[in-house]
Amino acid sequence: MTHEPECKACTAAQDNPATPMFQSGCLECSTRALACSPQFFEADKAHRMTPAYRAALESVFKADPRAGHKRVKAWFERISQHRRDVSLTPPPKTVRGPLI
Ligand SMILES: [Zn+2]
Repeated sequence: MTHEPECKACTAAQDNPATPMFQSGCLECSTRALACSPQFFEADKAHRMTPAYRAALESVFKADPRAGHKRVKAWFERISQHRRDVSLTPPPKTVRGPLI
């Protein structure tokens, strides 16, 4: 079961896990979107599965929210690691101002 989805956003995420690209209908993108969601952020901060996060998991993974949660956490780790890597790299001088 190592099927890789044909999805441009997922391909972009291979190089840049923090890419803002998401394709609707793609499970991997939905998983990645959850890892960036306020629902996950709140649950992570509270160290428990909040009702809002659980509802979000169930809407994406239907029957198996626990397995989904593991995948969301894996993405969260990848995105966090990527952000740390990026923050260690001095920004190019030509790009100015906050982007977010
Ligand atoms: Zn995708």
